Amino acid sequence: EARIITPQAQLEDEALEASIRPRRLAEYLGQAAVREQLAIYIEAAKRRGGALDHVLIFGPPGLGKTTLSQVIANELGVNLRATSGPVLERAGDLAALLTNLEPHDVLFVDEIHRLSPLVEEVLYPAMEDFQIDIMIGEGPAARSIKLDLPPFTLIGATTRAGLLTAPLRDRFGIVQRLEFYSVEELAAIVRRSARILGIACAAEGAEEIARRSRGTPRIANRLLRRVRDYAEVRADGRIDLAAARAAMDMLKVDAEGFDELDRRLLATIVETFDGGPVGVESLAAALSEDRGTLEDVVEPYLIQQGFLIRTARGRMAAPRAWRHLGRVPPPRQAL
Ligand code: ADP
Repeated sequence: EARIITPQAQLEDEALEASIRPRRLAEYLGQAAVREQLAIYIEAAKRRGGALDHVLIFGPPGLGKTTLSQVIANELGVNLRATSGPVLERAGDLAALLTNLEPHDVLFVDEIHRLSPLVEEVLYPAMEDFQIDIMIGEGPAARSIKLDLPPFTLIGATTRAGLLTAPLRDRFGIVQRLEFYSVEELAAIVRRSARILGIACAAEGAEEIARRSRGTPRIANRLLRRVRDYAEVRADGRIDLAAARAAMDMLKVDAEGFDELDRRLLATIVETFDGGPVGVESLAAALSEDRGTLEDVVEPYLIQQGFLIRTARGRMAAPRAWRHLGRVPPPRQAL
């Protein structure tokens, strides 16, 4: 079943997306360093009257990669065409998109690490020289012709920069990493969404939702809606601290923002594997979970919060994890 705190988009998220997704840089809260740099690059590109350099955005799901791409296109005053690595099956799929761009447009490729090698080959000259080679005809009569493209900006998004091939990575002039949001930043995002959706939400209520949203705006917006439901049925509809706490306790999202799967993961390392180190494959098997899901979706926040340690020999439970499970961590040298 779907986790309430999954950072990946669900159908209901998509429905509300249009109203709450920030459109301009000024509405894009948090990520101060990224915003400051991009504002300069965007302004410079506009003054030169050229296309913005290609941008690679990486960071865990739900942190605002898609949103930021749309914001960049809006600030540049150009169109955005969106696609994703797995959708571009053949070289021709990419060629069709590229040849339909207007000058300075943004082409957004989500999950860019999942491009097929053949499609990636097409992308290299497109990014470097705004040219593509396409094959005309078949068999002995086949020949390749060069097509000029309008200057454009490729924005690639990926969960982990390490998943990209070196030649692809090298072709991005601007590389930005999104970090998990602070509680204050998430509280501001919750208050903004509440305002737009017409939900009465006290500052302490917004902050409690923010604390349990594992640094992720998509989760914060989803928890806001679930807490709203609770407040409407069980209270007077207003989200205050008590309603926020009661609703998220009912949803089994604990004070750290962890759910069943997080607790099960930590408990498995501590109890089944004596605190680790345990390889990610063994861990995935013990939890009956997909390895990619653990690495992309579950682990990053646990690591960032200091509950999980990634070592060369595998995952280890940090002292915080033992304490979160109500256990005494082993002495230091035993770690
Ligand atoms: P990603 O592409 O990284 O998975 P999205 O761009 O789809 O994430 O963002 C997920 C949700 O979070 C969207 O609903 C968006 O409205 C919200 N969001 C993301 N970043 C921000 C931000 N900086 N400020 C406000 N809301 C944000």
